[in-house]
Order: sequence, then C-alpha cells, then structure tokens
Amino acid sequence: MQKHISHPILIRTLGLVVLGLMILVAIRVSAQIAETNAEEAAIEQAKLEQAAYDARFSNENYTVADGDVMAAILQNEVGLSYEEALEVVDAINTEHDVTKVRAGTDIAITYFDDTLDSLTYDISSDDALVITRADEEYNASIEPITYDIDVAQRAGTIETSFYNDGIEAGLTPRMIMELAKVFAFDVDFVNSIQDGDSFSVVYERLVRKGELVGTRDIIAARFTTNGKDFSVYRVIDDEGKTGYYSPDGGSSRRLLLKTPLNFTRISSNFGNRKHPISGGWKQHKGIDLAASTGTPVESVGSGTVSIAGWNGGYGKFVKIKHTSGYVTAYAHLSKINVTKGQQVEQGELIGAVGTTGSSTGPHLHYEMYFNDQLVHPFNHDTPKEEPLPEHLQPRLEKAVATYSSQIK
Ligand SMILES: [Zn+2]
Repeated sequence: MQKHISHPILIRTLGLVVLGLMILVAIRVSAQIAETNAEEAAIEQAKLEQAAYDARFSNENYTVADGDVMAAILQNEVGLSYEEALEVVDAINTEHDVTKVRAGTDIAITYFDDTLDSLTYDISSDDALVITRADEEYNASIEPITYDIDVAQRAGTIETSFYNDGIEAGLTPRMIMELAKVFAFDVDFVNSIQDGDSFSVVYERLVRKGELVGTRDIIAARFTTNGKDFSVYRVIDDEGKTGYYSPDGGSSRRLLLKTPLNFTRISSNFGNRKHPISGGWKQHKGIDLAASTGTPVESVGSGTVSIAGWNGGYGKFVKIKHTSGYVTAYAHLSKINVTKGQQVEQGELIGAVGTTGSSTGPHLHYEMYFNDQLVHPFNHDTPKEEPLPEHLQPRLEKAVATYSSQIK
C-alpha cells in the first residue's frame, strides 16, 4: 500500500472536483440565462402590449382655413356629432374664446380607437389650449408651450436692400424687423441704407419637438452704416424686462426715432439703397424723404399735436411738440390721422405721404426743431433713454465678453 495517493488518483479526483464545479457553474449560468430570457420575454411582451396600446392612438392635423368655425371643424374634420361638437365648443369657451382661433392655426387631434382623445392648438406663442376626454366628458385647459432655445449667428452686407440681404443671410422676416427696430433710433432704414453697410446678429431660435419653429430675442447685434458701428447687447433686468444697451451702458432707445417712415409699415422691400432727396435743406427748412403716396407716416416720438390741417404750401400738415425742446413737422400729406391737441405715442400713425400743397411729386417733407432751431434729423442725435442701472452692469459686461467677437 502506498502511503500517498498516487498521482493518477489525485488527478482523477481533482478532475472530478473541477468537473463538478463546472457543472455547478453551468447550471448557475443556464439558470441565469433562463432568468434573463424570462425577463427579456416579459419586457418584450410589455413592449408589444404597449405598442398595441399605442397603436390604438392616432394623430391628425387640421389647419384652420379662412372662415372656418370650430363647431363645423369638429363635425367635419374630427368626426364628432353635433351634440359632441357643442360640448367641446362649450369646454373651449370656459378657457378661451373659441371664435379667437385664427386661420392658419394647426389643430392637433389625437384619437383613441377612433374616438376623440385630445385636441390641442396654440392660442399664443406661449400657451396652447388642450381639450382632453375623460369619463365621457370634455375638459379644457391652457398649458404652457415648452420650447427649447438654441442660439444662432448670422451676418451680411447690404448689396440690394436690408430686407433682401437679410433674407440672403438666413434671417427670417421677423428677425429683420426686430433688428431694424433695435437700431431704429440711430439708423434710418428707409432712406439712408448704403451699399456696403453690414450687419451681424446673435439671436435665439425656438425649437419645438426637434423642429425650428421661430425666433425669439436678439442677444447681441451690430449694424454698420456710413462707416459708423452701432452695437447692442441684451440685458434682462430683475423684473424680466429686456433692454438693449451699447457696450458703454447707453440705452439703444432715444427720445425720437430716426425717421417717421417706419420700415415695418412699408412693404417688405424697405431698406433700399436710395438717398433722401436732399439739397438746400436749410433753405426749405427740412429734408425731403422719398416715398410713394400712401406710405404711412408715424410720429417719431410721443408728444402733443399742435397743428393738424391745411397749412399753405405745406399742404396737409402735422406738427408735434415733444419733450426736451423738440418739435417735429410733417408736410404734403395725403391724409391726416390726428387732430390738434391730441396726445400721440412714439410710432403712432399720424398720416400718409402725399403731394399736397407746393409739391412737385409724392414725398415726405420732414422738419425737426430743437429749442426753436432747425436741426437736420439725420445728423442730430436726440437724447438717449435712461442708461443701464449700475447693479446691472455685470450682466452687460458678461454679454459683451461672450458675444462681441461673434458680431464683429
Ligand atoms: Zn421739402
């Protein structure tokens, strides 16, 4: 007998142990696989059930047409009965006047098994009206629309008109208007835009469900005209109010607008490279702005109408007294929309361009006085509004540091 277990036996024993362990591991692994399979199957099953449930929902869109009435849309497009349509109309009316739905509005309709489950449409850029059906009843609520915001940058040089070159640069008509509004106190977009003027803007875009749906605020912008740079940066104050300021903290807003001919009231083709009919402006006490008959004329600032009516060679004439010693006058109008003594706001419509009185053709004769002295409205800068409050300076500095290189 050998005292020691021989090697073959040892090997065999070890082999058995290893085999045993392997079997155990295998059982364990297969148990795990079985468990995983069961879990996966359960998940698959749940997914299928969810998909089957989801498949019972379907979505449709209807765009409100001119002259559409909600009750008719609900019957003809959504498939509700007359009674159901009236129920939905009543529900909408509890939250929002149903007649306020405008042509072009998209109504998103969701059905569950072919019955109306929910219906929603935007009632403003901030809110949507939502109709939901529960327990055979329709309920209306107003829900905020959630947007994602991204930041875009665009720049361009004027070659044909501000509008055309803005579109060329990828700006939306609304953003072009916003830009012109921001610079309306320094730049005359109707008559003074020149070849080679340039612009650059950083602005917010609204994204909804992955789709670009619009633009929001300008964050920073530059407009260069006649070799002069104007740049502004957005500052939002503690009350959430947005203001635009130059890098030194000066407001973008002034007492008077640069021109009474507002681009937003004129055809989209404003900002052409045309020049005011000028020459001898002092002799004839003002400047003549090229514009066709009917072009809206607005007050460049708030004030009181001191003259509104026929005034000899001036034809149909309006004179407005503003604060801080400023007076403006508008002549040869075809139409007057204000009366003597009336208070007007900045940008308020006061009349239309014409050729009444001693005038050789349609244009606006425009005069500006400061402390009873005639001044050239395009060469004279009226006072700026309140500068940025001291405690908001860091916000402006941050905006300048972040965006100045982007609007260069
Ligand atoms: Zn004139």
